[in-house]
Amino acid sequence: MSEVLAGLKPESLWKHFGRILEIPHCSGREKALGDYVIGEAKRLNLDWKRDEAGNIVVSKPASPGRDRAETVILQGHLDMVCEKNSDVQHDFGKQPIIAELKNGWVQARGTTLGSDNGIGLAAALAVMESGSLVHGPLEFLFTVDEETGLTGARKIQPGFLKGTRMMNLDSEELGTFTIGCAGGADTEITLPLRRQPAGKQGRYLLKVLGFRGGHSGIDIHLGRANALKLLARLLAELEENMPFRLAVFEGGNKHNAIPREAWAEILLPESRAGEAESVLKESFDKIKVEYQVVEKDAAWSFAKSKSRGPQPLAPSSQRSLIGLLLALPHGVLAMHPEIAGLVETSNNVAIVRLKPARAQITCSSRSSIASALRAVRLNIKVICRMAGAKAHQPEGYPGWMPDLNSPMLKALQDVHVRVFGKPAVVGAIHAGLECGLIGEKFPGMDMISFGPTIQHPHSPEERVYVESVDGFFTFLVQALSALS
Ligand SMILES: [Zn+2]
Repeated sequence: MSEVLAGLKPESLWKHFGRILEIPHCSGREKALGDYVIGEAKRLNLDWKRDEAGNIVVSKPASPGRDRAETVILQGHLDMVCEKNSDVQHDFGKQPIIAELKNGWVQARGTTLGSDNGIGLAAALAVMESGSLVHGPLEFLFTVDEETGLTGARKIQPGFLKGTRMMNLDSEELGTFTIGCAGGADTEITLPLRRQPAGKQGRYLLKVLGFRGGHSGIDIHLGRANALKLLARLLAELEENMPFRLAVFEGGNKHNAIPREAWAEILLPESRAGEAESVLKESFDKIKVEYQVVEKDAAWSFAKSKSRGPQPLAPSSQRSLIGLLLALPHGVLAMHPEIAGLVETSNNVAIVRLKPARAQITCSSRSSIASALRAVRLNIKVICRMAGAKAHQPEGYPGWMPDLNSPMLKALQDVHVRVFGKPAVVGAIHAGLECGLIGEKFPGMDMISFGPTIQHPHSPEERVYVESVDGFFTFLVQALSALS
């Protein structure tokens, strides 16, 4: 094992984490790590099974006298995000992750560490191995491919688990319980377009850029501007003042990112370009005031375009497109009435691309309440219908509705007070977690998520706070005893 980790407490957890670092396990390639888990189960004479997707469950009988307790599931995901700094040579498929200890934190050398979710897995393996803990019957659930689309959790079959209470060990702040997450679903919009020649006119490129963007779940409540919506708004303002023809409209590149830049090409008589520029400038300056606190680097540009680009849209197509983009909702649509700061429902207008005969628009909606998610999508569908567009709405992933009356939450709060001298902060997140999918397959499953303190997961700056790992494990051990 890496010498850096030797001597850290609790020893058995760090021993397993050290082994995990040595086994390549990027998303989609976590089989070897699964084999390690199964090897451990065999060595300990425990029952195990692996489903077609690669998910593994290991069962461990209760400690003496505790077999009447309800079964508790400990869950974590086997895969990790593999990212490295561009100046680092590293083959994630072959080489071990090199851990370093710095100011009380463990981090990797220029790569992601995989403490998300490696520490959770190591904690589960340490519990699995221990002969001295007090607990009821246990199941250890190891899922595959969480990071790229929750596919492991999505493919679990009902019947794979017996337990009715589940602790997900994939949270990133010691002292916090997560008790809910958002469900999400995309809408792919297709708006048919006609194009029509415009005669001799000048072609201009209008850009909005420098916006902060961010994750469409985690950052949606921070009041950041959506570059696509803003560009549509500028064009609508211009339309109020003078006729022009739109040829290009584009921006955004990920369904789960708030778009940071967008651009359009418009055609108008060269003699009116100066006038257009001043209308746009005046509109942008006003918008900038609205966002002055959040979007300090917001910028725009308007310049003669060198491109010979596509023909402009027919006026009716142009009206439909700009109208549709203005009407689609963006941002927070509802806050949770009881959990302070939790976004309940939101929508992100994420991507726009123009093809010769159609516009493609992607929207990403989220809600912790299934019916509210359905309502937003219905809303989008109706807006599309009114604009003459088609909305394709593939099935999304379910949310996990917070249950403030959960019996396990009550029990674990008592344990938290005993271990740390204060109750945990209870929250939920406006993004997807495996609990949403697992809760859907196993109705009535009482779930909670917690973990040690991990910063900057998914990036080479990822690090885990050593002291928090000890606290996390102590809490986990006490929680298992309290529930037995
Ligand atoms: Zn994770």
